[in-house]
Amino acid sequence: MVNKAVFLDRDGVINHDPDDYTYLLSETTILPGIIEFAKKVQEKGYLLIVITNQGGVNKGRYTKSDVEAVNDFIQSEFNKSGVSIEEFFYCPHHNALQACLCRKPDSLLIERGLYKYNVDPKKSYFIGDKWRDVECGEKAGVKGIKIDVNVISDSLIDLIA
Ligand SMILES: [Mg+2]
Ligand SMILES: [Zn+2]
Repeated sequence: MVNKAVFLDRDGVINHDPDDYTYLLSETTILPGIIEFAKKVQEKGYLLIVITNQGGVNKGRYTKSDVEAVNDFIQSEFNKSGVSIEEFFYCPHHNALQACLCRKPDSLLIERGLYKYNVDPKKSYFIGDKWRDVECGEKAGVKGIKIDVNVISDSLIDLIA
């Protein structure tokens, strides 16, 4: 069976992005509307997969365990509403310090998600607040949707078939 998925950027789509790195649990707030949106998406039969750039690891601003603690918090908040995120993929590199293929707009992480979860890119979406998110999705054949940072509109669900 081939699956379909909605890929989500993390900071600015799931949790509030203060326009600096988010790595403290105490500063992590889930955006209004995102869990309700994710629940509807899940009910339509989509898998939910997060793809996030965490270049602050490479810069030494925070550690991989900080990234994972925020991911775990998000997962547990979603779980409370019966929503499950399949996996969080993150790129710990920063392009100023180390070349890689996993940092958006490059598409290695989304391609790994497509392969691992047997997802048809043509039936899938990438939702992000930056153009590099859209570009990443489209490189992998997934329809990109650009939203305004930190804004989950009630009509977003209408864009998901
Ligand atoms: Mg973002
Ligand atoms: Zn990377």
